[in-house]
Amino acid sequence: MATDMRAVFYLGPEQIQLRQVPIPAPKEGELLVCVRAATTCGTDVKTFRRGHPKFPPPFIFGHEFGGDIVEVGKGVKNFKPGMRVTSNVFAECGECFFCKKGQGNLCENLVYNFGAFAEYNIIPASIVRLNTFEIPAHVSYAQAAVLEPLVTVVHGQKLIAIQPGETVAIIGAGGPISLMHQQLARLAGASKIICVGHSEKRLEISRQLGASETINSNNQDVVSSIQALTGGYGADVVIECAGNKLAWEAAVDSVRKGGRVLWFGGLPGGTKIELDAGRIHYGEIKLIGIHGGNAQEAREAFDLITSSAINVDPLLSGVLPLEQVEYALRKMINGEVVKMIIDPFLA
Ligand SMILES: [Zn+2]
Ligand SMILES: [Zn+2]
Repeated sequence: MATDMRAVFYLGPEQIQLRQVPIPAPKEGELLVCVRAATTCGTDVKTFRRGHPKFPPPFIFGHEFGGDIVEVGKGVKNFKPGMRVTSNVFAECGECFFCKKGQGNLCENLVYNFGAFAEYNIIPASIVRLNTFEIPAHVSYAQAAVLEPLVTVVHGQKLIAIQPGETVAIIGAGGPISLMHQQLARLAGASKIICVGHSEKRLEISRQLGASETINSNNQDVVSSIQALTGGYGADVVIECAGNKLAWEAAVDSVRKGGRVLWFGGLPGGTKIELDAGRIHYGEIKLIGIHGGNAQEAREAFDLITSSAINVDPLLSGVLPLEQVEYALRKMINGEVVKMIIDPFLA
């Protein structure tokens, strides 16, 4: 086996670089994986533009992958070389204040795994124990790589608890997150799904995946369009996945009295939003934030992929080599693609 590998490093906003570095060796409990497919993610786009709030550069970029185990660390029991695996981006400690309350996604000691845009990646021991899954033969590396965002979507869907017959509006439609939300909303029994986005290309994918109505926010007013489609009341549930202040506010303005809002797309820390307190009070509007998902939800998300209960193929817009990670991210920023697959060994 080679001793060096190629890896894409994140150096700072709008700065990434392909470097040659030694292939790391797995320590106790860890796995060394040869990355066969890594997928680009909205979080990568956010990090590319403004950095990551928890991790100072430089670090190897990318966090969604499927690959082959090439070496196992001491003490690893359930995995062996040659297995095809994927894993979530983090794992909880199981022991802190939040973990003891069953809220592992809020764990104070989360261990993360970045390093997917590289030929090889180490999976840390706690992620190996809790959040690493063997990929069955009928699932591709890229399909399995979509696990990480789906874990968070599964967690968000639990918090919002869509009931059969409800109308769900999704703001920020056509991105990977929204395409998973709309499928899970349908599985939960939503009867009408209204998708709001600004890329006609992406809205077309929303329609293909079963959106009842689409609204193009470039030329339609979001709030009044949603009201017009809901008898003037607003949607029972609004899921915001655009990740901007106006979308957070529009989500609250688009929900009916007694309805629920899930703010899914993160805003930079310190961002203040403006809400009509009277509408929230007299309208009994429930406002729900969300971050990540726990180990149980990671298992559920993996099962949704392997059972084909959700279709992740429309999220995967094509394959590029490591040299073109920045090009892939810019295509995402422009709304031209949903997710790109990075194949580190693409000839
Ligand atoms: Zn991701
Ligand atoms: Zn914890």
